[in-house]
Amino acid sequence: MVVGILGGGQLARMLALAGHPMGIRCVVLDPADDACSAPVARHLHGAFDDRRLLDELADMVDVITYEFENVPLESLRYLSSKVPVYPPVAALEATQDRLDEKNLFRDLGIDTPDFLPVSSQEELESAVNRIGLPSVLKTRRMGYDGKGQIVLKEAADVSGAWEQLGGVPAILEAFVPFDREVSGIVVRSTDGEISAWSLTENRHGDGILKLATSRPHDPVKPIALDFATRLLEHLDYVGVLALECFQLGDRLLANEFAPRVHNSGHWTIEGAETSQFENHLRAVTGLMTGSTEPLEQSVMINCIGEMPPLSRVMKIRGAHMHDYGKEPRSGRKVGHITVRTADPEYLQRATADLCDLQKSGCR
Ligand code: AMP
Repeated sequence: MVVGILGGGQLARMLALAGHPMGIRCVVLDPADDACSAPVARHLHGAFDDRRLLDELADMVDVITYEFENVPLESLRYLSSKVPVYPPVAALEATQDRLDEKNLFRDLGIDTPDFLPVSSQEELESAVNRIGLPSVLKTRRMGYDGKGQIVLKEAADVSGAWEQLGGVPAILEAFVPFDREVSGIVVRSTDGEISAWSLTENRHGDGILKLATSRPHDPVKPIALDFATRLLEHLDYVGVLALECFQLGDRLLANEFAPRVHNSGHWTIEGAETSQFENHLRAVTGLMTGSTEPLEQSVMINCIGEMPPLSRVMKIRGAHMHDYGKEPRSGRKVGHITVRTADPEYLQRATADLCDLQKSGCR
């Protein structure tokens, strides 16, 4: 079985590594010469819209998947005329535009923060009148890791804000004073079987995920699973999907979803019976998916900018290091570390030790 992946970052790298023991090979298309997955998978170097390369890829593989959201839709549509593409192109299309994504949530009865479309400074001002302050102005397209958004705290922040964001189509969202951020990671197989991993509690800093902790038996997991199931069934989805939510009291409000394996699910490599990477490959290749049951409890930190010295990491009992082999660069995710334990006290201590490895901290 051969899986084609559009995008050659760390997600493609971990997919390829998960495929190896099962004899599933991955072929990756990515424009970068130093793509992170290059050491562990066959690579085609070139643009995502290079028809010659897309033809070559389609000839080499049984199924195509993708590992990031800004793959051109046209390329996926073209590929899907030749080989199956999972998750479905409609899922990617919805996530490429925040307004379409939020409208989809609303249509499916999935709760979200209040939002309105904004295409001019005038529209922004009337949206602020309706939604109130504080609120968050976000570009509809190409925003990720907190990029392409401005928090409007007071009236003075509103003037000129639309131009400041680039004068592009945007949405205004109510700012949610959330208690915590959680993500529900789920998988659906070709025969419609849905499984969910333990809910993950996420801590962000500067718009980047810093810390993720698995929460087996979390009381709001059924809400996240209900929301995710609506999406999966509506989209006739195949593969892993991550739904990011804000928790406010006993409610969840959906922020966004990712039609792919997700950073907040990296702990599943050591912390679940079957990882998100293995199950994504199993789902898209038409196999039965494996158990998503947690093994104890896990905490994961992202290594941002540069990797901490291995010798320091290995002093933390139970630490599992994942170095993506990337060149250090400020703000870049270069690796992650997971600790799994059955001891709640040790989980706290390990979390503190892991946070100390991050220059900017994460508590
Ligand atoms: P996003 O790019 O939408 O995932 O936003 C990145 C991060 O910004 C989120 O994980 C939150 O920490 C914060 N954020 C985004 N939207 C809101 C909101 N409406 N209210 C409060 N915080 C938000």
